[in-house]
Amino acid sequence: MKELESPLPPIVHNQVSEVRSLFQKYVMPTYSRFEVALSHGAGSYVWDVTGRRYLDLGSGIAVCSLGHCHPEITEALIEQSRRLIHVSNLYFHAPQGRLAERIIRHLAPGKVFFSNSGAEANEGLYKLARKFGHDEGRFEVLTAVNSFHGRTLAGIAATGQEKVKKGFEPMVAGFRHVPFNDLVAMREALSPATAAILIEGIQGEGGITPATADYLLGLRALCDEKRILLLMDGVQCGHFRSGRFQSFQRILEDVPGAEGFLPDGLSMAKSLGGGFPIGAFWVRDQAHGVALGELLGPGTHATTYGGNPLGCAVALRIFDVIEQEKLADNVRKTGGWMQSELERLATTYPDVIKSTRGVGFMLGFELQPKEQIPGMAGSQPPSSLQMVNRLHAAGVLTIPSGTQVVRLLPSLNLTPGQAREGLEIIEAEVKAFSKV
Ligand SMILES: *Cc1c(COP(=O)(O)O)cnc(C)c1O
Repeated sequence: MKELESPLPPIVHNQVSEVRSLFQKYVMPTYSRFEVALSHGAGSYVWDVTGRRYLDLGSGIAVCSLGHCHPEITEALIEQSRRLIHVSNLYFHAPQGRLAERIIRHLAPGKVFFSNSGAEANEGLYKLARKFGHDEGRFEVLTAVNSFHGRTLAGIAATGQEKVKKGFEPMVAGFRHVPFNDLVAMREALSPATAAILIEGIQGEGGITPATADYLLGLRALCDEKRILLLMDGVQCGHFRSGRFQSFQRILEDVPGAEGFLPDGLSMAKSLGGGFPIGAFWVRDQAHGVALGELLGPGTHATTYGGNPLGCAVALRIFDVIEQEKLADNVRKTGGWMQSELERLATTYPDVIKSTRGVGFMLGFELQPKEQIPGMAGSQPPSSLQMVNRLHAAGVLTIPSGTQVVRLLPSLNLTPGQAREGLEIIEAEVKAFSKV
């Protein structure tokens, strides 16, 4: 976990407006981007085109699991690209089989399908649910209010947030949303057509809300009772971000009666490839007497790039580094420290920070509404955006979530020193908004 130097000399002249004008002319305006044009990175630092350095506590929205340009990832890319970059899924190749084995070793016996993204991994889960319920006329997937499952047509139907659906109606049929962490509401929402329940272990885009242990155990019992699939979206909260491979493993740690807990299916992406686009979904061998692992047989599902040798080689190397450098321990220790610091800030500056939430390296602090924060003018953007912008100016990248939450999703190899550096800057900016 040694700190890396910038591999490139800084570019002295300001190129931000040049880069931005290309976007304005030629790139669809689907994202509202910050006034930051990035050039290169090393570890948890990233440099913009003017040569300014930032501490990256967002890591590409929980993607760059080993930080930027990790030498092992570069090595894996180079080595594998000299052998084989792509082959069709009409053929076998070793990296895909080995990566599937690696994932299963961290979960339980089952099967894996490889995709290119998180939304596409979830698509596989929806198709699994449809196939599972098909002969009984069941097709419905219940998801949580405030969930996020991706931007494909079924993804926005599955996502429990109105803003992603607006303008794209009619929605793909068969999705309904139920309040999160509310077992009674879920039981009441079930219909004879329900085939599956899909939840995030820790809601990410919804503002960093972990499922409770009781909720997970209750959903498992409910699904067993009603012969429904329990599916989990681990795209953001997975891959050791919680301090365990999957967030449910951390949430249920040391909880009596939780030893045998497993979802029936689980999607992954983001940190799995550390920046190389790869997604996957895992299903357990058997559920409710059905061989889930065999349910999607030849000809039922496919994707050209899924599980290509290059992506799999990178993902395998990331698993190696996480194990060798004991990064799950780092997440627990350093993340625990960061969380306690955020709690201290919430206690010290209650006029700015309303609450803190999360676990490991998936942390958030909820700000007061902008009208109530002494240093924030009422007419400006929501408090989360104002804070993220101020942190940019102070040299730290964080991710807003809704109008009031700022997310910290650092690389798994963020050092304790970097964590301290980040928290000191956050404290200074919080203090600047405060009257305390
Ligand atoms: C990011 C995200 C997705 C979508 O992943 P893409 O790779 O952007 O398609 C799905 N679910 C969750 C929980 C996510 O955070």
